[in-house]
Amino acid sequence: MRSKLVVGNWKMNGSRAANATLLNGILEGLGQPRAAVAVCVPAPYLFQCEALLQGSPIAWGAQDVSCHPVGAYTGEVCMSMLQDFGSRYVIVGHSERRAYHGESDALVAKKAKAALDAGLTPIVCVGETLEQREAGHTMAVVGAQLDAVLEAVGAEAVGKIVLAYEPVWAIGTGRTATPAMAQEVHAALRQKLRACNAAAAETTLLLYGGSMKPDNAADLMAQPDIDGGLIGGAALKAADFLGIVHAA
Ligand code: 13P
Repeated sequence: MRSKLVVGNWKMNGSRAANATLLNGILEGLGQPRAAVAVCVPAPYLFQCEALLQGSPIAWGAQDVSCHPVGAYTGEVCMSMLQDFGSRYVIVGHSERRAYHGESDALVAKKAKAALDAGLTPIVCVGETLEQREAGHTMAVVGAQLDAVLEAVGAEAVGKIVLAYEPVWAIGTGRTATPAMAQEVHAALRQKLRACNAAAAETTLLLYGGSMKPDNAADLMAQPDIDGGLIGGAALKAADFLGIVHAA
């Protein structure tokens, strides 16, 4: 039986004051959740997360990272900086990075490999656009996105990544994939993982992301291959985030 994982992706939201209110609210209502819990925050707030969450059941991490270890890359943040503030996770290949920053499958794969080499857990995002889904290309698209990462990280890393299926058309739109639609893709993704490393594929956590809310989370996470959620909008309010955590 795989454990569940619920991760908040704050995207480009927050302030010191708002973060403190949000994190304290989550800590107050957390109790002893069945799911593991993490927040992926804007890089400047990793310091604050370390201060507030150290010793708590909530892990933290970043939303992106450079594939380079150090040096002349203006504006970039590298893996050792994430580690310096106790990060456990880093999201790589979010569709917003792919769409607005031109990140290719190859670059996402490099970032995933760099995270693993540094001992962080990459949360690798894959997902199709509405156009791609309607053309019947969902599995080809997410399959190619996953293959690029598997090629870079190797079969032995299968159990060390977290994979997030986030259909682009469901992100921030209020339009969630039905549990059956999401499960179908998750099952196919796990099948691909099995082909790479059969034993490790059973332990890899597969998260669903895209308008997950307290009222649809339980049904989604009850699916056999959905091991948790990557939460955007609903991660910004303690009550909503806790509602999802407690539905896991
Ligand atoms: P929403 O939950 O706001 O749809 O965002 C999902 C997402 O992109 C998480 O990474």
